[in-house]
Amino acid sequence: MKNAKASVAAEKPSPAHARAHAGHRHPASPEAALALADAYCRERGEKLTPLRRKVLELLLASGRATKAYSLLDEMRQIHPGSAPPTVYRALDFLLSAGLVHRVESINAFTVCHDLTQCQHGMLVVCQQCGSVAELHQPKLREALIAQVEHAGYRLAGEEIELKGLCADCQAAQAASN
Ligand SMILES: [Zn+2]
Ligand SMILES: [Zn+2]
Repeated sequence: MKNAKASVAAEKPSPAHARAHAGHRHPASPEAALALADAYCRERGEKLTPLRRKVLELLLASGRATKAYSLLDEMRQIHPGSAPPTVYRALDFLLSAGLVHRVESINAFTVCHDLTQCQHGMLVVCQQCGSVAELHQPKLREALIAQVEHAGYRLAGEEIELKGLCADCQAAQAASN
């Protein structure tokens, strides 16, 4: 589906774009996002190496959660010799830098919608197509974590992930019924 990608590149309002703005901010273009990520890494004294940058670029271009092996396939089209560890190491770096999220429910990776603010939100993940919205509601997040702790639990990770079905997939489902 082209919608998610178009909503990143174009500023014209579309349903997908409006939806994107409801939940999270997104840099205007992949180039802008890469420049932000670059500056962010430099500030932290780390390096967005060409390989790390390429993996981030592929994730930005995909516009949705993408599995590691798909990223590896794409890398191999650009650099035929790419070995799995190189892609996994790049993903590990991007994860630890907070530039991408691991999406557990579909075992994939997605670009953080908040590349530099570092205020990770709650991810809503379409279980059909892998599109991800990141909800920035710090109070809601805190309240949820407080309730989890009240119940005597501690969350297993940073990510709070909600399983969903995006508007496009809902429409496709409605059309096929
Ligand atoms: Zn995030
Ligand atoms: Zn979907």
